[in-house]
Amino acid sequence: MSEVLVLVDHIDGEIKKVTFELLTAARSLGEPSAVVVGTSGTAAKLKESLAAYGAEKVYVAESDDATGYLVTPKVDVLAALVASKSPAAVLVAASADGKEVAGRLAARTGSGLLVDAIGVEGSGSDVTAVQSIFGGAFTVKSKTTVGTPIVSVRPGGVESSESAGAAAEEVVEVPATDAAKATKITGAEPIVGGDRPELTEASIVVSGGRGVGSAEKFDVVEKLADAFGAAVGASRAAVDSGYYPAQFQVGQTGKTVSPQLYVALGISGAIQHRAGMQTSKTIVAVNKDAEAPIFEIADYGIVGDLFAVAPQLTDEVGKR
Ligand code: FAD
Repeated sequence: MSEVLVLVDHIDGEIKKVTFELLTAARSLGEPSAVVVGTSGTAAKLKESLAAYGAEKVYVAESDDATGYLVTPKVDVLAALVASKSPAAVLVAASADGKEVAGRLAARTGSGLLVDAIGVEGSGSDVTAVQSIFGGAFTVKSKTTVGTPIVSVRPGGVESSESAGAAAEEVVEVPATDAAKATKITGAEPIVGGDRPELTEASIVVSGGRGVGSAEKFDVVEKLADAFGAAVGASRAAVDSGYYPAQFQVGQTGKTVSPQLYVALGISGAIQHRAGMQTSKTIVAVNKDAEAPIFEIADYGIVGDLFAVAPQLTDEVGKR
């Protein structure tokens, strides 16, 4: 069976659930090999969960520099593995970092790049990416014609499932970074607020739009999110109006989310917003305008004032 490389997405050894989705997708193509790039001891922490989702091999690329130079060490490690192992494909998360890794890796290895896939099909190096385009209006399938297919996969796009793998370790070198040329990270502050899950990782997202009306009133969105244990999102109009910080924007120029449940409060459903949430499994919309386009894609719609509906939902969810 062909080997498929999966770049493990983690923050200081804390694994992101998109990694399990990538491993599940890789299993449909061949034998998944997880690539852990991190500081010393990272792979040992992750090995058990990587094995649970079918990693047959774990490439351990650890060094003090591994997390200190933006994405450069990850690209270096993956490029070396592509050259030495000739994998059938490389899968990375379509996160901000992952997209950069994928683009650089494709350029470095002279390979084709398939971006933002919501699924993969095929076997061996005959890889087809399934992509949702034009704000979810079309689903297309595409293939590369040169090199090793490099695929970035949208978090939440693939449903993860467990399957035991051997997780046999192989230590690989992290090529030394030329500190004079590279950009070194001098400090990092997490941008996630409180105990809420990270937006792209959350299985439930509650988003507010311009209809919320002000930053102060956005707590109606936060309260419902907290009742669900969900992440909070916002439309661009809400962000541009100063209701909520930009890192929570969902849409074409914001984050792409694909949760089990997406609740849109006071969001009209412009195509640019839909582009970032259309592949959510279940969509619930609350809008006082029955003609709002969000209702075209909603599984459940409530025509009403969000300030009357959302608190009732919050109470109801809180009781369960
Ligand atoms: P509006 O369109 O103003 O809708 C507000 C809705 O709230 C209305 O439907 C109204 O009926 C409803 N409402 C008002 N009061 C209440 C109430 N009390 N109860 C219930 N409902 C109420 N947008 C994004 O979201 N994400 C992006 O990434 C993004 N990228 C863009 C990129 C480009 C290049 C461009 C041109 C635009 C982009 N936009 C993006 C903007 C997008 O076109 C819309 O303008 C934006 O999504 C609208 O946000 P909204 O739905 O919150 O506001």
